[in-house]
Amino acid sequence: MTSHRTYVIDAIPGDGIGPEVVEPTIACVDRVASLHGFSIDWRARDWGSDRYRRTGAMMPVDGLDALADGDGILLGAVGDPDIDDVTTLWGLLIPIRRTFDQYVNVRPTTVLPGVQPAVADAVGMDLVIVRENVEGEYSEAGGRLHRGTEHELVIQEAVFTRRNTARVARYAASLADRRGAALVSATKSNGIIHSMPFWDEVVRDVVREEHPGLVLESVLIDALAARLVLKPRSASVIVASNLFGDILSDLAAAVAGSIGIAPSANLDPERRHPSLFEPVHGTAPDIVGRDLANPIGCLWAASLMLEHLGEHAAAASLHGAFSDVLAAGTRTRDLGGDASTTTFSRAVLDAIDVQS
Ligand code: ATP
Ligand code: MG
Repeated sequence: MTSHRTYVIDAIPGDGIGPEVVEPTIACVDRVASLHGFSIDWRARDWGSDRYRRTGAMMPVDGLDALADGDGILLGAVGDPDIDDVTTLWGLLIPIRRTFDQYVNVRPTTVLPGVQPAVADAVGMDLVIVRENVEGEYSEAGGRLHRGTEHELVIQEAVFTRRNTARVARYAASLADRRGAALVSATKSNGIIHSMPFWDEVVRDVVREEHPGLVLESVLIDALAARLVLKPRSASVIVASNLFGDILSDLAAAVAGSIGIAPSANLDPERRHPSLFEPVHGTAPDIVGRDLANPIGCLWAASLMLEHLGEHAAAASLHGAFSDVLAAGTRTRDLGGDASTTTFSRAVLDAIDVQS
């Protein structure tokens, strides 16, 4: 039991099903907090696409400053079928990731009880993908020349720095060490001849110098994608660049069950700034407003948030609660059940009481 602390958390429900999963998550976190002797002071932020339509900006000009003194950020989803993704992504999520130096993106994948994975062999998989989160292939460097002519030419540059590559490698290597597993590094040094050999070299040096006993496997991204489908239990920790990590984590989530389950933590591991926790799924426009959204991705993200805050028992209790509800056979429609968001979330609240 920890002391009676209050954490300040900014909640950005966002668009689409975002509010439908954030609202029950807040209720579950409050319940688990009260049972573990701490509380959350939620600051609700109505940022997102509606705000963009009203004001021309996804968040206020002083939005980043407003988040800076908080202990963490819980995000539902942002995006709108009528607004392009570049506007929504670069208007909110990417500035938050970069301003608060959330240089690692952690995405755990396991097959939860009672969930039918897409690949039968995935039962028992326990994978954490550590994705570089502030540079790499997602870069503003580049441009278009001779627009619209037959000589049109587009250059999109990827930017890799020694500092960012080394520190994401360091985070992943120490996680692999703690798990007693090999570190798998995603590469493509046979085709991408500047950045990927550099990536390989920096990852190798970090492992050699700081974790000399750790086994490092550098695997080409194409082969690694196939391996995750064919042998999902053959990796425990994967470190990957921004783009490769993005693709692999959606792939892993699909292999393990449903996109509605997967969580994502955007971390500043040194805790100088707030970290951001979100479900991997998007706004799911096809099911908005019908009480069909699976809240597990958001609940699991909140559990990662509690973990990051140091509230380990509360994090485990929240994770245990939704796992127990699944194991007892209550599932939302995306997992083949018939429970609504409301029914599932109520069952999690009850299970928290039993857990604690
Ligand atoms: P966006 O553009 O915001 O990423 P999207 O439709 O491209 O939205 P997702 O929101 O990830 O992508 O949805 C992909 C599919 O998965 C949709 O059919 C959606 O209904 C389903 N889905 C996503 N999240 C959930 C969830 N939490 N519960 C149930 N189904 C979900
Ligand atoms: Mg999408």
